[in-house]
Amino acid sequence: MQPISGLPAVQTFDTHCPYCALQCGMSLVRGGPELTVMARDFPTNRGGLCQKGWTAAEVLHRPDRLTSPLVRDHKGGALRPAAWDEALDRITSAIRAVQSEYGPDAVGVFGGGGLTNEKAYSLGKFARVALGTTQIDYNGRFCMSSAAAASIKAFGIDRGLPFPLADIERAGAILLVGSNVAETMPPLMQYFEAQQKNRGSLIVVDPRRTATAAAATLHLQITPGTDLALANGLLYIAIKQNFLDDEFIRSRTSGFEAVRRAVSSYWPDRVERITGIPEKQLNAAARLLGEASSAMILTARGPEQQSKGVDTVLAFINLALALGKPGKLYSGYGCLTGQGNGQGGREHGQKADQLPGYRKIDNADDRSYIASVWGVAEQTIPGPGRSAYEMFDSLGTDGGVRGLLVFGSNPAISVPRAGHTLQRLRALDFLCVSDFFVSDTAELADVILPSAQWAEEEGTMTNLEGRVVLRRRATQPPAGVRSDLESIQAIAERLGFGEFFSSEAREVFAEVRRASAGGAADYYGVTYERIEREDGVFWPCAAEDHPGTPALFADRFATPDGRARFYPVEHRSAAEEPDDEYPLYLTTGRVIQHYQSGTQTRRVNQLRDAVPESFVEMHPSMAASYGIASGDLVRVTTRRGTALVKAQLTPAIRMDTLFMPFHFGGPGQANLLTNPALDPVSRMPEFKVCAARIEKGSE
Ligand code: SF4
Repeated sequence: MQPISGLPAVQTFDTHCPYCALQCGMSLVRGGPELTVMARDFPTNRGGLCQKGWTAAEVLHRPDRLTSPLVRDHKGGALRPAAWDEALDRITSAIRAVQSEYGPDAVGVFGGGGLTNEKAYSLGKFARVALGTTQIDYNGRFCMSSAAAASIKAFGIDRGLPFPLADIERAGAILLVGSNVAETMPPLMQYFEAQQKNRGSLIVVDPRRTATAAAATLHLQITPGTDLALANGLLYIAIKQNFLDDEFIRSRTSGFEAVRRAVSSYWPDRVERITGIPEKQLNAAARLLGEASSAMILTARGPEQQSKGVDTVLAFINLALALGKPGKLYSGYGCLTGQGNGQGGREHGQKADQLPGYRKIDNADDRSYIASVWGVAEQTIPGPGRSAYEMFDSLGTDGGVRGLLVFGSNPAISVPRAGHTLQRLRALDFLCVSDFFVSDTAELADVILPSAQWAEEEGTMTNLEGRVVLRRRATQPPAGVRSDLESIQAIAERLGFGEFFSSEAREVFAEVRRASAGGAADYYGVTYERIEREDGVFWPCAAEDHPGTPALFADRFATPDGRARFYPVEHRSAAEEPDDEYPLYLTTGRVIQHYQSGTQTRRVNQLRDAVPESFVEMHPSMAASYGIASGDLVRVTTRRGTALVKAQLTPAIRMDTLFMPFHFGGPGQANLLTNPALDPVSRMPEFKVCAARIEKGSE
């Protein structure tokens, strides 16, 4: 590691953890050749870090770090080191060849929810300006897109949490749906613990009795895929028990009567049959929420990663609105965003239907404004493209994407129906991957670009609260490594569009500010200097003297008439329910040690040693009925494929449900099994529920 020249030998840099959307504050300290992590007091983590954060610097020093581009001379050939010029020339000639034979949309771009705002913005602009393609999407499509779509419908804007995290500890009641905070964002648990100490009640909805559920006032151990019925059922009880805020409904919302009619058939014994939650618990949950002076409903991937994810979130928003909570102190609806820049990554144009500032690519005014910022003719900006799974499904097909550039993502692990996805990736004419390591996706690439890591470059991230934070550069990247901004600029240059791009994060951020000005996600008043001074700035922030907006909706919602919208929604089955052939539910999620596809955390000794491979969690009674003991190899099969994993037995899971972590590749890869059934609005795949069968396996 090279120190930054001109600075003293011992240096401390305040920055943020490279992983999840909590964006915990940490300091990187250099006392010798390597950087070490120190926790620091930041409003989100208040000095806490999880084991992923504590060990994050180890990834910077890994010996298998890529320090040179790698190229493959022909399909099936070996990867070999190459000079940057050769690699960049290969990329641009492949782009030209594919586009001249199949047209501009035959080249696609896939980004990530961990990229900085500057990178996400540059990637979206690169696709539209330098490639002229409609085909760009990102892995946040697989995370928060259902909650984002529902929030836009109901509130007119998507900011995961419309209030700061600190509000959690003052909430009288919280309904936390499908989130295992104790494992995914451990420092966040201190807010829920404080809330309960303040005599607040915490209701957790989860098919597993997770560490989060075990700490709750009430755990609703729901049947996978039935959250929508639960929300409608709770609203039914709230109506019967007169918990509604009639004045709020009358003065600040529209559409309630249609919802009242829609939930009139969700009486408790019917909801008990659908959800598996006893009527007594349904009544208790409704009472805790309805009688609390302040209450929050928070959703995460459990209810969102369903083929009815948008309607499910709308059902919970209906409940929050009927109780009169959004826009009130310590109250409202929020989504717990997962990926490090899952929020900013969905605001600045790397999504198939979107332009920077949360503008829409099919809106004439939005197109015209962005064209003026980019200095291009409006008609040259392509229209909307395919969503993430649909793009992967099209790879190498007639009319599909034939050349793909992947930045900051590992779709070989994270896309559902992975066996099919791998086939499609192999069918590409050309694949370029930019990563720190030879990831599972990079193993298939024709060109790999070695990219800089979080501590080696600067940039901004937007956390789950909508707080824009600053990553500082604490060290130089290893020789031979470049930042993604440099790579994007260099490819654009070779394609004849270099003047439109900058490799300097501060210059790109200045453009993000202009491009987002006046949009829903307005960053115009956010500067690097303000972020440093103020521990982050909440958007919208329209001017440098604007204080930022920690809490939204106090006076009006972001809809044209200022009212929040109710939407009547009906329960429907998951795309695939258990049957005689596949009698069990399979759900997927995370473990505390690993992050996303594990490209980074699977390389950290302490984390890998703790959980080195995938597993399937099942109830001991279920295991006994199959003759399976703890540690036995199990074949888990769905209509997409089979995974071979070791059994972990726990009474904390429902008797009809299997759980697998999605961080691993190889024979135990969870996404070999998952169902790509898509939500019709958000195009979110149904990661959280499908039908499976098990049998005792062998190597
Ligand atoms: Fe904090 Fe998330 Fe990093 Fe853990 S992974 S230290 S919770 S930002």
